[in-house]
Amino acid sequence: MVCLMTTPTQLERRIDTIKREIIALGPLRPGTLTQQYNVCGNPNCRCKADPPQKHGPYYQLSYTWQRKSRTHFVREEELPQVRTEVGTYLRLRSLLDEWINASLEIARLDREKRRPSARKSAKPRPKRVKLPRSPAK
Ligand SMILES: [Zn+2]
Repeated sequence: MVCLMTTPTQLERRIDTIKREIIALGPLRPGTLTQQYNVCGNPNCRCKADPPQKHGPYYQLSYTWQRKSRTHFVREEELPQVRTEVGTYLRLRSLLDEWINASLEIARLDREKRRPSARKSAKPRPKRVKLPRSPAK
């Protein structure tokens, strides 16, 4: 098994790279694209045939942001742009997760380094004895 030791320096370098990547990100938006087919109200329409030829596809973008859920239609010509923006949003979220994970790992390594049991020459601290004050002259 290969043991890849990650040092705080390596983690900090990774965080610097993440920051640069975030700065370089283009337009973004949260959401999930879905495709759907509809039927209309016309009883003689092809969408009522057997087998039915439903209308569509229609594309919808749904997202929840600040506790509000929204869904709206996306025109076919807007699809490439919306797909790119949704992908960029996901990339941002994954970069943020990685940044936070690296920060937590740096903090963990730091705690480990400071733990007294990790020191080789750990000796119990001598108890502090309170000395009586020398009498004032
Ligand atoms: Zn129809």
